[in-house]
Amino acid sequence: MRPIEQRAVQAYREQFLEEPAIIASAPGRVNLIGEHTDYNGGFVLPCAVEQRVAVAVGAVGHESGLNQATASTLLSQLAFGSDAVQGVLYSADFRELCPLTGKRTGSWADYPCGVVWALTAQGHEVPLFRATFAGDVPLGSGLSSSAAIEAATALALDAFFHLGISGKDLAVLCQQAENKFVGVNSGIMDQYASLLSQAGMALLIDCRTLEAEAVPLDLAAAGLTLVVCDTQVPRELSATGYNARRQTCERAAHALGVKDLRDAHVRDLDRLSGEELKRARHVVTENARVLEAAEALRRDDFVEFGRLMYASHRSLRDDYEVSTPELNAFVDLAAQFRALGARLTGAGFGGCAIALIKSEGAQALVESVRQHFAGRGFPRPIFYTFQPAAGAEVVR
Ligand code: ADP
Ligand code: MG
Repeated sequence: MRPIEQRAVQAYREQFLEEPAIIASAPGRVNLIGEHTDYNGGFVLPCAVEQRVAVAVGAVGHESGLNQATASTLLSQLAFGSDAVQGVLYSADFRELCPLTGKRTGSWADYPCGVVWALTAQGHEVPLFRATFAGDVPLGSGLSSSAAIEAATALALDAFFHLGISGKDLAVLCQQAENKFVGVNSGIMDQYASLLSQAGMALLIDCRTLEAEAVPLDLAAAGLTLVVCDTQVPRELSATGYNARRQTCERAAHALGVKDLRDAHVRDLDRLSGEELKRARHVVTENARVLEAAEALRRDDFVEFGRLMYASHRSLRDDYEVSTPELNAFVDLAAQFRALGARLTGAGFGGCAIALIKSEGAQALVESVRQHFAGRGFPRPIFYTFQPAAGAEVVR
């Protein structure tokens, strides 16, 4: 068991004075290439990171199975709420006990409650249960801790209640929980990556057909590592900028007479002009880059893969115009430190960038970026170094 899974088990013992029946965990993710392609019906290529959210699940026992503090907290919550309680949830990170109900509360419990809501909406029976959570995916940092907690919950409940739901269907269910219950509009990438990734592999996802294919990404064998730089730049403008980009893409697709920009070709682009041309050029070339990148990985050609990462960044910076000085500075420094590739990852407007670099060079890059950011008065960045990790797993 991983340390984070042991923490979830320990919390279960402390809260419920019993052993859990099922232990599962699911990772966060990072997108390697394929940005702003998802809502254009195109391709993305994420992999799982090493940080995970773990969950321990068991049946609701007798009152004797609750410790004193837990029992009284629960009773006071029950006294306030009128909703039917379907179970008990505890977060070791928030040190908070929450009843499992069908009502949104704006807390961390919305994510597991959303998964139960989605399971029930699909006609699955979810009897009473209790669960404890522990995670080390940084919250709100762009590594999708929300998908990790959803995926861990869904997989654990599938195992505990013998629901027999496929990984893909669990991912769609988790996306519904996030879209419709939590109320955050997101594509399928995060949940697919968390549930379907494999260690030493990336996941090529067709966002239109929802087909997914594992692509080899054995960086350890090649002496390479991935570095994520969270620039800590708040993404306040992201919602408006993001919606504007989506609308421009829809207009461009309409002007070209295609359903989505995924169906457009580079040769079509000269029928567009101005902003529509720039935005569409990014999407059309980025989609092609994702497929080329997957091809490069199938031949273990990390040099070509890295070249495509740099090209993706330039396209996001110049044509899609979603980069920031901090993200550009990271990518420029990565190039100076001979990273094979680097690019902003996520929607842009702040957030994270990623570099693929020789393992022994990672620390020097990190130090240099820290110094450079401090010198320019940028926020203090946070770094994560990792190998492509395993997707969601039931570990016991
Ligand atoms: P992210 O980019 O990390 O997905 P979100 O805002 O979408 O950011 O999701 C973060 C939320 O997910 C947290 O505020 C919390 O409600 C929930 N969450 C993530 N990890 C945990 C955890 N270990 N324990 C409890 N809740 C968690
Ligand atoms: Mg999220």
